[in-house]
Amino acid sequence: MAYPRLVENLIEQFSKLPGVGRRSAERMVFWVLNNPREQVQTLADSIIGLKDGLRLCRECNNLSEGELCRVCSDPGRDRTTVCIVEDHKHLLAIDRTGIYRGLYHVLLGAISPADGRGPEDLKTRELAERVRALGVTEVVIATDPDTEGEMTALHLTSELRPLGIKISRIGLGIPMGSSVEYADLSTLTISMNARREIPA
Ligand code: ZN
Repeated sequence: MAYPRLVENLIEQFSKLPGVGRRSAERMVFWVLNNPREQVQTLADSIIGLKDGLRLCRECNNLSEGELCRVCSDPGRDRTTVCIVEDHKHLLAIDRTGIYRGLYHVLLGAISPADGRGPEDLKTRELAERVRALGVTEVVIATDPDTEGEMTALHLTSELRPLGIKISRIGLGIPMGSSVEYADLSTLTISMNARREIPA
């Protein structure tokens, strides 16, 4: 016997979530069935609230509830340094170390010929304009040490070089082929401290 259509529909939707297989999706559906309506409503409202309420920071592309994200609107941040990351999870991972107190720039992806993302998708012109306008003296490139991340770092370096500022790359600690996202706190701390300037 199959589940009623409404149950099947929701199993199908939950199964689309990352890391959720059919069995987990079934358990989620039964959680919905077994809990009070208000609780389910709160979950549904939180999902829609996030989708409607969050946007990208006007300055750095970080997730934000207002025009400017928490980092950009924090007066305690060092505005002479910008750390370039591939996505929001990477920004969070680095910021959690607490050793980096500068600003960020989220690329929203790396150069990836396989996915049809070329250098023009990185919007480096906006980044260069921002770096110039802020009077930034150092840019830290914190893209992943994998093929896409390295390609991206190379491209960013050539685009930012004419600005005549210090350009560094996060250093030791993160194994080749892995991701900033999965590095633990101490590894990321070492990487950030061991960043090296990319020679001209
Ligand atoms: Zn921002």
